[in-house]
Amino acid sequence: MAAEGVMRPLVAFRVLLTPRRGLATRDPENPLPVVRIPRALQQKQELRLSRGRNLPRPVLARPGRLLVSARRPELNQPVRLTLGRWESAPLASRGWKSRRALGDHFSIERAQREAPALRSLRSEATFAHLGLEPRVLRALVQATPEIVRPTTVQSNTIPLLLRGRHVLCAAETGSGKTLGYLLPLLQRLLSRPRLNPCPLPAPRGLVLVPSRELAGQVWKVGRPLASSLGFKVRELRGGHGIGKIRLQLATQPPTDVLVATPGALGKALKSRLVSLQQLSFLVLDEVDTLLDESFLELVSYILEKTQIAESPQELGDPFNPKAQFVLVGATFPQGVGELLNHVANPDSIATITSSKLHCVMPHVRQTFMRLKGTEKVPELVQIIKQHDRACRTGPSGAVLVFCNSSSTVNWLGYILDDHKIQHLRLQGQMPASMRAGIFQSFQKGSQNILICTDIASRGLDSTHVELVVNYDFPLTLQDYIHRAGRVGRVGSEVPGTVINFVTHPWDVNLVQKIELAARRKRSLPGLASSVHEPLPSNPNYSCQKHDASVLDGC
Ligand code: ADP
Ligand code: MG
Repeated sequence: MAAEGVMRPLVAFRVLLTPRRGLATRDPENPLPVVRIPRALQQKQELRLSRGRNLPRPVLARPGRLLVSARRPELNQPVRLTLGRWESAPLASRGWKSRRALGDHFSIERAQREAPALRSLRSEATFAHLGLEPRVLRALVQATPEIVRPTTVQSNTIPLLLRGRHVLCAAETGSGKTLGYLLPLLQRLLSRPRLNPCPLPAPRGLVLVPSRELAGQVWKVGRPLASSLGFKVRELRGGHGIGKIRLQLATQPPTDVLVATPGALGKALKSRLVSLQQLSFLVLDEVDTLLDESFLELVSYILEKTQIAESPQELGDPFNPKAQFVLVGATFPQGVGELLNHVANPDSIATITSSKLHCVMPHVRQTFMRLKGTEKVPELVQIIKQHDRACRTGPSGAVLVFCNSSSTVNWLGYILDDHKIQHLRLQGQMPASMRAGIFQSFQKGSQNILICTDIASRGLDSTHVELVVNYDFPLTLQDYIHRAGRVGRVGSEVPGTVINFVTHPWDVNLVQKIELAARRKRSLPGLASSVHEPLPSNPNYSCQKHDASVLDGC
């Protein structure tokens, strides 16, 4: 079929072997125009066709919705075509390391409308079914009346935490993990009396997060819930001197829940400004980031100062407080087993992994453009201007532009200034005073464009963001997952899109992995990990390992 199709155009020509200057002439006996093709060109064409017969058969474009749409339509893949695990897929990004690929592009299309985490919202389960007390349910209704049904991850984590298990929860970005740990934390505090006043501020709940912005966000979610229950939540942010930290901790009434960054808490502990002796609940949010090199030493120091329960019985003793331990993240933390060996029995941790973990998000359109470094600025300016025009005609959201370094954020900012494009900038090397409040004002909508580094990719809620542009392609698949996860969140007001600029050969390696995973509808490679220990021998902690095997299918 294919060969016949390709031969047909040749049949339509009457080929004359003797080339002449004028290429098209009229034969008086035949009204059809005669196209004269030079012999060399004809031979080249024949050679190409004969080679083409031996090439792997491309996936033929079929009618219907597309999963992958490419500039070359023969590389399109329809949604209903599923490639086998070992079946080789013709990649649109194949050959992208060559300069000849410049200008090529392809998109992973939106295969479904809603975030996977929303699926369970359609079921009849309510927060009350998860075992939360009426007081906590009332606090939830007062604080967030729009949240009625639990997301999948909340349905999985809350009952386990209420039963006193340590939990490692790895679930996709924007799936509602914050409430998944805050509600059980507050319920646990209700059943634990405050012990004798301690000379130092001694929080009973601690949430450790990797950035000041995320600390502010978790505090904002926790504060109204806690205050309806009579608890005090305080945030402890770094970037300021020890005097400021002392001031943050000194205020009355005593703190029940502390939301802190490792830097600030580490300083406070070393200066004996805070005690973790009364801790009953410890959360490491965005645990994969907290376990990376830049934080590991500080986090290990903080964990040394806490006492984590060995068994659920130990959690029950109100006069000898031991902490329940929760680790949450959007990618499965590598090396978590090693950390757990030092602070708790890895067997005592129930692992919850969502079936969509490490998958290419099915509800977000992701476009990959192969271009030269010098083309990135004009392309970005055009994208922003197009988006701006769309904003004027209909509902649309904000734009996040990710760069790989603080200096690129600054440089790009000056360029956008030259183009009179108003924006905000956020990067880790800014002085704390400048950095404070930037993400909040972006969330409030004071500016529609934020240029940032990966500090804005971890955990920050951005339901009003419509477009993520990876101006620099991320250096790891984890970073790609986190950046792309700023759109298409539970509660997102607009459908999300991610646009990626691909310039370097090492970018192409990652793009090919992402494209292959999307075409095979499987998880991204190299991210699967486990706590690696066998299931517990201790019957008190006979927590089931929830579907560590589901990591494969998307
Ligand atoms: P994650 O920590 O998994 O990235 P968040 O906890 O930041 O996600 O929640 C993402 C968004 O989903 C937030 O805007 C939050 O208000 C919203 N959300 C959380 N739980 C629910 C729910 N049960 N129903 C509707 N929206 C929810
Ligand atoms: Mg989060």
